Amino acid sequence: SRTFWVGGNWKMNGSVAAIKELTSTFNAGSSPSDVEVVIGAPFVYVHLLSESLRKDWAVAGENCYVKASGAYTGEISPEMLKDVGAKWVILGHSERRNILQESDHFTAEKCVKALEAGLKVVLCVGELLEEREAGTTQQVVERQLAAAVNVLKEQDWSNIVVAYEPVWAIGTGKVATPEQAQETHAAIREYLKTAVSPKVAEETRIVYGGSVNGSNCKDAAQKPDVDGFLVGGASLKPEFLDIIKATQ
Ligand code: 13P
Repeated sequence: SRTFWVGGNWKMNGSVAAIKELTSTFNAGSSPSDVEVVIGAPFVYVHLLSESLRKDWAVAGENCYVKASGAYTGEISPEMLKDVGAKWVILGHSERRNILQESDHFTAEKCVKALEAGLKVVLCVGELLEEREAGTTQQVVERQLAAAVNVLKEQDWSNIVVAYEPVWAIGTGKVATPEQAQETHAAIREYLKTAVSPKVAEETRIVYGGSVNGSNCKDAAQKPDVDGFLVGGASLKPEFLDIIKATQ
């Protein structure tokens, strides 16, 4: 069975002082041994976070580039993230897709390079409000996943967590219902079954993101295809310690 996975995504938030305070809170809390916990931080804080965070949790970058080094001013390589202690990278977040205009193809290429460098990947997918209203949610997430499926090998999927994050639920307080999450997660698993393999479909963690908090996480965590969460705002608060216990 799939190990429950909870990630924090700090986005463009934090400071040296705030991270020191938050890590001391997180480090003093209890963390179930059967839950995998990962925190994503802005590039400039990845090193500090990996030095100060408890060792049973892992650190993620929130993006990376597709080259190991070279004349790419302002970019950060997967190798550099690894060098400063990251074990994971979040790729294809809706804020990168929609604000920074990053394509499905570019996101998929980042997945390949990050995995080659030895990072694990949180691959984010999810529809806009108008896409949900138009009834195209499944087409959108399948298109986003297909770009990755086309360039990855079957064994790569053991190092990928898929995060389903409906854009209308991100930072809005409008959490998807447990039923809405379950429906899309089940459809993603069905897609992986035909597009990759039954084994990959069975073993891949599919986590939900979008306005998850300490009180709404419990019901969603009961759904059979919800294997964890990717948490934005609430991962900057002590409340995150409640979310990692959603299944307990
Ligand atoms: P919120 O939890 O703040 O809605 O953000 C979700 C998210 O985008 C996590 O990647």
